[in-house]
Amino acid sequence: MATDLRLPTHRIVRPDKDRFLDEVNPFEAMKSRFDRAAVLLDLEPGLYKVLRHPEKQIIVSMPVLMDNGEVEVFTGYRVLYNTSRGPGKGGIRFDMQVNLEEVKALAAWMTWKCAVVNLPFGGSKGGVICDPSQMSAGELERLTRRYTSAIMATLGPDSDVPAPDVNTNERVMAWVMDTYSMQARHTVTAVVTGKPIELGGSLGRREATGRGCMLVTREALKHLGMPMQGATVAIQGFGNVGSVAADLMQKAGCRIIAISDRAGGIENRNGVNVAEAIAYVKEHRSLDGYKGGDPITNDQLLTLDVDVLVPAALENVITSKNAGEVRARVICEGANGPTTAGADAILDEKGVFVIPDILANAGGVTVSYFEWVQDRGGYFWTEAVVNERLEEIMCRSFNDVLALSKQHKVNMRTAAYMLSIQRVATVHRLRGIYA
Ligand code: NAD
Repeated sequence: MATDLRLPTHRIVRPDKDRFLDEVNPFEAMKSRFDRAAVLLDLEPGLYKVLRHPEKQIIVSMPVLMDNGEVEVFTGYRVLYNTSRGPGKGGIRFDMQVNLEEVKALAAWMTWKCAVVNLPFGGSKGGVICDPSQMSAGELERLTRRYTSAIMATLGPDSDVPAPDVNTNERVMAWVMDTYSMQARHTVTAVVTGKPIELGGSLGRREATGRGCMLVTREALKHLGMPMQGATVAIQGFGNVGSVAADLMQKAGCRIIAISDRAGGIENRNGVNVAEAIAYVKEHRSLDGYKGGDPITNDQLLTLDVDVLVPAALENVITSKNAGEVRARVICEGANGPTTAGADAILDEKGVFVIPDILANAGGVTVSYFEWVQDRGGYFWTEAVVNERLEEIMCRSFNDVLALSKQHKVNMRTAAYMLSIQRVATVHRLRGIYA
């Protein structure tokens, strides 16, 4: 008998109308977008409740021996939001601002992101409250190993696969992989992605998120009838995502007129010399003191008169307070959650074309998926093959979301949520409720 995949009709979802929407709480922001898409999809009430709750939330306290001989206790989290489509997939963040609400939101976004680009993964995320800039390499290694062993029960190539996020890198991923492998008593490279190439990492992974940003921006400009050649771009955040996006967008013909990081930014209407800025950051660890343009603040960068704005640092930088002053025609959300739900309507009204985070920065998880596939197959691809397959997935996903946005006359964010929620909901309907 054929399974009926049609959505049920006339079943009205009732969002929690009386809950208080805290604009800067990222989990609230996620739920607000989820609710809008769920209503449009006419999601049945049971599934609505299932998809609004994380499957599993782990909080761990980790004693770590510091270099001065004292013991410090760190708090860490791992949230598996939804694993119906496959293993949880999501990065590990080391930051003083990490909290459970943020990790829950990031895990939910990973669920929707993997579904938007149609990867066989669910969504998860982890974080540890710490300041890696104040820790030695030895302290960071001990913390990473202790965190890995604290969440060992959920980890595994078939259950939950971490990756780097803010302030973690391939070095940290190598420690995660080694700690897991020591417990498993054999080498398990596929337990984590974003590893060093020598250890089962994938060519092209480091650049993948920035490359994905460049590709969807190219598609957006094409859709809007704007040339890529000479398009002006401002980029907030000059780390992995922001610096690679700047480099590849410049190579694709755009003029990068402003960049910034934690220390502040620079504006140069003639075009920032991106290669020089990257070399400067490599040497000095930040843009602080870089003289390649006039100094500007991070707030000023967000409201510059540009064709494309790429927020590629942290959450909640475009809010109801400053959205009215944004002058960009396109926003490509390199970071997760840079725009609050309160800012969405203001940007819509101004006609800003927003490529939402769950689509715009999905290049990273897409090549993480390639890495996982290569590790499991024990056969590694050339960088050209990785980039070609990434381009195919990013462009197809952009056009899937665009088609849905036209069909339902909604913005790209709502369309992306509709596409991904529909995919996750379909799997739940097929699998049914266990026990
Ligand atoms: P990163 O640590 O390499 O870089 C972060 C950058 O943001 C740095 O330049 C830092 O100085 C800057 N920054 C930090 N605080 C800031 C502030 N208050 N104002 C302005 N700039 C600030 O991190 P990343 O990997 O590039 O990640 C950036 C964002 O992209 C995060 O939201 C992350 O979740 C998201 N993301 C990353 C990937 C990936 O593959 N790395 C994939 C998807 C999404």
